[in-house]
Amino acid sequence: MFDKVLIANRGEIALRIHRACKEMGLSTVAVHSTADRDAMHVRLADESVCIGPPSASESYLKFAAIMAAAEITGAQAIHPGYGFLSENARFVDVVAAHGITFIGPTADHIRLMGDKIAAKAAVKDVGIPVVPGSDGGVATAEEAVKLGNEIGYPALVKAASGGGGRGMKVAKNAEEMAKAFNTARTEAKAAFGDDAVYIEKYLGKPRHIEIQVIADSHGNVVHLGERDCSLQRRHQKVFEEAPSPVITEAIRSEIGEVVVKAIKRLGYLGVGTIEFLYEDGEFYFIEMNTRLQVEHPVTEQITRIDLVKEQIRIAQGEPLSFKQEDVPFIGHAIECRINAEHPETFAPSPGTIEDFHAPGGLGVRLDSAAYAGYKIPPYYDSLIGKLIVHGVTREECLLRLRRALGEMVVSGVETTLPLHQRLVDAADVNSGEYDIHWLERFLANSES
Ligand code: ADP
Repeated sequence: MFDKVLIANRGEIALRIHRACKEMGLSTVAVHSTADRDAMHVRLADESVCIGPPSASESYLKFAAIMAAAEITGAQAIHPGYGFLSENARFVDVVAAHGITFIGPTADHIRLMGDKIAAKAAVKDVGIPVVPGSDGGVATAEEAVKLGNEIGYPALVKAASGGGGRGMKVAKNAEEMAKAFNTARTEAKAAFGDDAVYIEKYLGKPRHIEIQVIADSHGNVVHLGERDCSLQRRHQKVFEEAPSPVITEAIRSEIGEVVVKAIKRLGYLGVGTIEFLYEDGEFYFIEMNTRLQVEHPVTEQITRIDLVKEQIRIAQGEPLSFKQEDVPFIGHAIECRINAEHPETFAPSPGTIEDFHAPGGLGVRLDSAAYAGYKIPPYYDSLIGKLIVHGVTREECLLRLRRALGEMVVSGVETTLPLHQRLVDAADVNSGEYDIHWLERFLANSES
């Protein structure tokens, strides 16, 4: 058991974790760089420790600084949030070596899922459907061309250590394959220090559907349904919803059962997300995220389960407080990621927020660490906040979202609010007919 949690993150997710801790009677320690001195998570935490200069590698990613902060404050557990050290297996080992609890999965599971080639083989082995492609890594351009010819074009070369869509190249035919293979390898080496790549069939019009799972240390595993995150720009999610407009109750139960069985066999612990591409009624695994996701609130809104509190309970050795049949799926939820970016060029727009007005009312949640006068530093991601809206039906949810977006005010910096206003009015978004390429097409069409 522990009663003091160090939050090794910043921004809205640090605040999200702080809130869960307070409601559980736990005290919190914020860590921050010198650029985040005035951040909301620092102001609200019970204690705070400055861990270094603005550069993330010198602060939020620095093991020694974070461990020293835990030692001097007597924190007995560390919550990593998402990003930063959340999927760093070495950090998990270091935390354990200090006798501190890491609120998350085991280092072994993080390591396994961090290597996409190994992850794909492991999940296939426990019954999860995967994208047809190479059996493991591909070492030469000749082998890549041979495989491309076998599985058919277009084919995709992907980095084993990939993330954020980097190290991924499409080949439309055999001529393009050798080049795609070499470029993907070079990019992967530069970005991740690992040039291992593998090949997959390129799916033309899939949706991105991910299943949230949660597992305790007593062998209980439950799935919390799906999130549809198909609206993406450059492989980055922009707008997410649950349930997916194309997943029926029967499909949800079926894929949910497959995933729960697989996760049990893997002996996984904590919350995790199995990401799939979904095309023509088939699911194809792409990766597993071994952490809390940015878009976790849409699942919380429809299941009424607080995922951060559950993470903490699991880390304290408690069994899940619910069974699969207790999980309700109530109504519909949508999340919009509101970034400090130009709504058309997507150029980052750091600076001082002048006016800030949060929308409110029934079914409206804003997860944000921003406030009027807050200076958005240029060193980190550009997320200002996540607007999450719940409605009894999808239709009500969209009407409420339009209303809430209209109330929200963020001035002084450019934001993606106008993009979300256009999305909520788009016919295909209203009918739910979109795939992972829809948003890029929508943006390209509005340019011309
Ligand atoms: P990353 O870890 O870089 O985010 P993912 O494997 O999760 O990589 O893929 C990111 C995105 O790339 C997916 O959401 C999807 O848009 C696209 N993608 C990945 N694999 C395929 C595929 N086989 N066919 C088509 N698109 C794909």
